[in-house]
Amino acid sequence: MPAQVYQGGCQCGAVRYEVTVDLDSTVICNCSRCRRLGSIMAFTPSNQFEMLSGEHATTEYLFNKQIIHHHFCSTCGVQSFSRGQTPDGTPIVAINARCLDGVDPEQLKPKHYDGKNH
Ligand SMILES: [Zn+2]
Repeated sequence: MPAQVYQGGCQCGAVRYEVTVDLDSTVICNCSRCRRLGSIMAFTPSNQFEMLSGEHATTEYLFNKQIIHHHFCSTCGVQSFSRGQTPDGTPIVAINARCLDGVDPEQLKPKHYDGKNH
């Protein structure tokens, strides 16, 4: 599956974005946050991600090494994306594939990432 354009966002609709991302390589993670949220993540460079609305509608949450900026909707609480960077400093966005319009998360085949021990 090549990268495709999707729209997505939070539950209440305050946060909306458009993103080009490849859903063939999704990840679920067992770290203290992801295992609670159940996010299925797909990563893409920040320049493939555009906020349509809600740039200021999120609350930012940092934990552990404080590298990943988790943005959840201040109204409905759904975290539909987070921001980070690759080891070489390239800004990337982690999309929660569960928050994309028209995507059935049951059809995704995520790899398991051992975030608990990293
Ligand atoms: Zn919301």
